[in-house]
Amino acid sequence: MSGSGYVGRFAPSPTGRLHIGSLLAAVASWCDARHHGGQWLVRMEDLDPPREVPGAADDILRTLESFGFEWDGETVKQSLRHEKYEDALKFLQSSGMAFGCGCSRRDLQGAAVYPGTCRGGIPSGKQERLQRFLLGKGVESWNDLILGRLEFRREELGDFPILRADGFWAYQLAVVVDDRDQGITHVVRGSDLLDSTPRQLAIWKALQGDMGPEIPEYGHLPVLTNSLGQKLSKQTMARAVDASSACEQIDFVWRCLGQNAEDEAWRDLMKAGHAHDLLRRGAELWSRNRVPRQSIPLQGWAQEDAV
Ligand code: GLU
Repeated sequence: MSGSGYVGRFAPSPTGRLHIGSLLAAVASWCDARHHGGQWLVRMEDLDPPREVPGAADDILRTLESFGFEWDGETVKQSLRHEKYEDALKFLQSSGMAFGCGCSRRDLQGAAVYPGTCRGGIPSGKQERLQRFLLGKGVESWNDLILGRLEFRREELGDFPILRADGFWAYQLAVVVDDRDQGITHVVRGSDLLDSTPRQLAIWKALQGDMGPEIPEYGHLPVLTNSLGQKLSKQTMARAVDASSACEQIDFVWRCLGQNAEDEAWRDLMKAGHAHDLLRRGAELWSRNRVPRQSIPLQGWAQEDAV
């Protein structure tokens, strides 16, 4: 649909139904992509069966449709891409950027970051349990599309799992492999993932070799919190969004995103209840500069707030 070269995405995990925080990320990433004449892909991050809820993946896609979202191409499912993650792991191992680790959670209790125990080899008497990415020392920085210049010290994050002890692929590796393969140029997502970005940048660089797709630009959105200041998520029992009032809920997150909700066409489409046209108008009006940089406390969106 576009010649702009922009490829964005929305990447929900099917651990529950779509809630208001995920709707905010969907609206923002959709508007940012379409505003820039870009494509918008949907990827199902179904990599963590113990946390997944049967039927949630389909439910999320149906909900996105009923909120008027249209995406480009087929929905990619991470559960069908294990071989790609395996290839990436082999490459990282062969270039010395991944190592086997024999530490259990108990071994690491009390350590703020991984102390590097198995970097030089697994100590005798222990067996390999997981694979870690060798993050080492240095600085990861980027110009965030929303938050401006950000910087993390690698040693404050520590070497992190890319193949988990339970045998499942870690989110950090899968996301980078998929963003690379799908040609993603812009990642617009919640600030709860802010400290994932330096880890992902490091994996991107390790996978690059001499050439490869360009590292995407990243933009981090404010998170919505409940009355206890916790991020609204499936874990904090955020209520699912309700397609019967799609336009009102789009308008609600639009205001949370600091966007112009007084625009006349916006108001008319709201009243008319045309969710897809409302999103299209949103894409025209969208302004990154208006997005707040702080988290947003909400009343009434978590189940415990509602009772
Ligand atoms: N699957 C992740 C989530 O639902 C989002 C991943 C991302 O946008 O990078 O929190």
